[in-house]
Amino acid sequence: MRALRWHGRGDLRLDEVPEPPAPGPGEAVVAVSYTGICGTDLHEYTSGPNLIRTTPHPLTGATPPITLGHEFSGRVAALGSPVPGIEVGTRVAVDPCLRCGTCRWCRHGEYHICAKGGSVGLASPGAFAPLVTVPVAGLVPVPDGVTDELAALAEPLAVGLHAVRRAGVQPGDTALLLGAGPIGIAVLMALKLAGAAGIHVSEPVPDRAKRAAELGATEVYDPAVTDVRREVFLRTGRIGPDVVVEATGRPELVELAVSTVRRGGRVVLAGISGGAASLPLKQIVPFERTVLGSLGYNFDIPRVLDLIATARLDPAPLLTGVYPLAQGLDAFRELGSGAHLKILLNPEER
Ligand SMILES: [Zn+2]
Ligand SMILES: [Zn+2]
Repeated sequence: MRALRWHGRGDLRLDEVPEPPAPGPGEAVVAVSYTGICGTDLHEYTSGPNLIRTTPHPLTGATPPITLGHEFSGRVAALGSPVPGIEVGTRVAVDPCLRCGTCRWCRHGEYHICAKGGSVGLASPGAFAPLVTVPVAGLVPVPDGVTDELAALAEPLAVGLHAVRRAGVQPGDTALLLGAGPIGIAVLMALKLAGAAGIHVSEPVPDRAKRAAELGATEVYDPAVTDVRREVFLRTGRIGPDVVVEATGRPELVELAVSTVRRGGRVVLAGISGGAASLPLKQIVPFERTVLGSLGYNFDIPRVLDLIATARLDPAPLLTGVYPLAQGLDAFRELGSGAHLKILLNPEER
């Protein structure tokens, strides 16, 4: 089968690879329908390795070249262990978190921060291929009425839902969202669902700013021309937002986030970055502000699918392109140009 594999920075190749073996205990093989290209995948391509390990992964032993792709839907092709409610042929979305199952965090339901954890498509061969091996624990049946395309968007939406759950947003809260890329838009959708009354968005790219406004942002600011901190302060009655979500991973925005949130408010950092931020402690301690990290999701993908199935969440605006896997490299380059939010690759079209 053909798979889109990461060989190194700037080096993605459509390779001929063997099909995965029959699944072992605790594993399943999924026949892939659609797989989204994540910002993480793009960053591995343009500036990696970031999350990909060049030495054997502690849980899987995998080393590059590695097939990317961790946001996907498909049908169960083979099961290595029985799973209640799931059989061969069941339509599924997949929680791609790999977990050891025995560490302190796995035992407390925090499998997404497993001491040895990783993701399918970064720490094991991923879903930019017709077949992919996944942990059975990650199989999530897709409700009738949710298409395979939309089911493939459940993973990035779960990132937004998780970040907003971490933020503890209450109905009527005000929020500032930094960045309206794919994760930012997922956060925006989750803020609306949580009942946020005011959703302020800072986004310099005009297309993204326009989309955020269309999707229900109260105000959208261009940080190149607006003092976002001051504007939001004034528009929240000189209080500041209850919550700030940083969805870009740019370390230089952390200080803006902390200095903008109201006294006693919460800052959630949802962008992944290897950079360092400097934080004046006088902006945290005397104001009792809380700064939290948010990584991926745990148990959020089934919630997202239920929200889509009950028409409370429409993920369609996230989707801006669908390409056959054979054009995957072009799709990566197009995503890098910034015009898209989410591109899906379909391995069945050749
Ligand atoms: Zn992702
Ligand atoms: Zn673990």
